[in-house]
Amino acid sequence: MHDHSSHDDSSHDHSPHDGAYEAPWSRETLAIRAGHERSFEQEHAEPIFPTSSFVYQSAAEAARKFSGEEPGNIYSRFTNPTVNTFERRLAAMEGGERCVATSSGMSAILCTALALLSAGDEIVASRSLFGSTVSLLDKYLARFGIVTRYVELSDLDAWEAAITPATKLLFAETPSNPLSEVADIAALADIAHRHRAWLAIDNCFLTPALQRPLALGADLVIHSATKYLDGQGRAVGGAVVGGHDLLEGVFGAVRTAGPCLSPFNAWIFTKGLETLGLRMRAHCDNAARLAEWLEAHPAVERVYYSGLASHPQHALASRQQAGFGAVLGFTVKGGQPGAWQVIDATRLLSITGNLGDVKSTITHPASTTHGRLSSEQKQAAGIVPGLLRVSVGLEALTDIRTDLARGLDALARS
Ligand SMILES: *Cc1c(COP(=O)(O)O)cnc(C)c1O
Repeated sequence: MHDHSSHDDSSHDHSPHDGAYEAPWSRETLAIRAGHERSFEQEHAEPIFPTSSFVYQSAAEAARKFSGEEPGNIYSRFTNPTVNTFERRLAAMEGGERCVATSSGMSAILCTALALLSAGDEIVASRSLFGSTVSLLDKYLARFGIVTRYVELSDLDAWEAAITPATKLLFAETPSNPLSEVADIAALADIAHRHRAWLAIDNCFLTPALQRPLALGADLVIHSATKYLDGQGRAVGGAVVGGHDLLEGVFGAVRTAGPCLSPFNAWIFTKGLETLGLRMRAHCDNAARLAEWLEAHPAVERVYYSGLASHPQHALASRQQAGFGAVLGFTVKGGQPGAWQVIDATRLLSITGNLGDVKSTITHPASTTHGRLSSEQKQAAGIVPGLLRVSVGLEALTDIRTDLARGLDALARS
C-alpha cells in the first residue's frame, strides 16, 4: 500500500521519495518500473485512482492522519496514489530525491517561487525563456516585490555580474527555444552556490532521457509534462524535482494553493515516461537529419541546432547532453514573407506553437511565441523575421522534408 505522508516521508521503509528506486536499476528500466506499488488487486499496469478524498477505519485514524502522526492519503489536492506513481517515476529518472507534480508547467514554476522566495528577493534568469515564464516573472512576481534580472544564457560572467546579495534563484532553460543556445549547467550551479542561491533548470526540451541537471549540480528541475513527457499532445501538467528539503516547500505550496495534477493526467504522463527514452532517440534522429538537410538547402540562411558541428556550443552540448533534442530553428531567405510562405506551403506539419509531440509542428516565433517583444528586443534575442521553428516529430523524415521542401524550393527559385 502507499504510504504518503503529507508531512514527512523519510521514516518509511519503502518511502517513495528516498531514492530506493534508483538502485540498482538503469534509467531505461526505471522509466518502466519505478513508482508503482501494486494494490491488493495485483494489477500489472498502473491503476488510476479518480477519487478526491480517502476514508479511515476510525475517528482516531482520521485524527492521526490529519495531524501527520500517521502517513497516508487524505485528499487529492495533497496526495493521490496515481499522482504519486508519476512523481516517484520522474524523480527516479531525474535522479532526484523527490518530485511534486502540478497542474501545468507554469504552476510548477509559480509554486517553486511561492515556496522559495519572499518580497525583496531577486531572480537572475536567462533572457531566452518560455514566454509565459517571462510574463509570470515580470507581470506577477514583480508585483509582489520579487525582481528578475535577465542575462545572456551562455554568458557566465553576465550571470555572475547580475547577482546581488538579494539573489536567491538562478533560472534557465537549456537548450533555449528557438535558437538552441546552451548553458553550462555545472558552471551555473557553481556560480549559484558560491552566492548562496539555488539553480533551477527547466528541462522541458531534453527531458531526463537526454539531460539530468541534478547530476550536474542544479538544485531543482522543472518540467512542463505537457511536452515530451506525455509526448502525444494529450494533457497539460508539470512537475518540480529536487532534494527533500526544497521539495517539501514546493509540496506545501501546491497542496495549499491548489494547482495539483489530476489523477487521469498523471496516469497519461506515467505511461508516457515508459516510452520517453525510445521516443527521444527517434525525435533526435529525425531532427539531426532534418537539420543537416536544412543546412544544405539554398533557401536556408542558418540552422540553429546544438547537434550541428557549426553550432558555437556544439562541444558543450555534446559533453552535457545525451542527445541534442528535436526543436530546431532556421532562418530563410526573404524575411517574414519568405518564412510565412514556407509555413503556408506545408500540408503535413501542424501550424501551432506547441512542441514535444509525435506530430511535427512549425511556427513563426517573431509573430507568435515571441510576438510580445519589441522589435529591439527581438533583434537582441535573435528572433529575426525570417526565423522559423520546427518541433520535429516522429513522422517519416522523408515526408517532413517533402513538406518543407515545397515552400523552400519555391523560395530558392524566387
Ligand atoms: C510549455 C512550456 C512551459 C509551460 O508549461 P505548460 O505546461 O504549458 O504550463 C514552461 N517551460 C517551457 C520551456 C515550455 O516549453
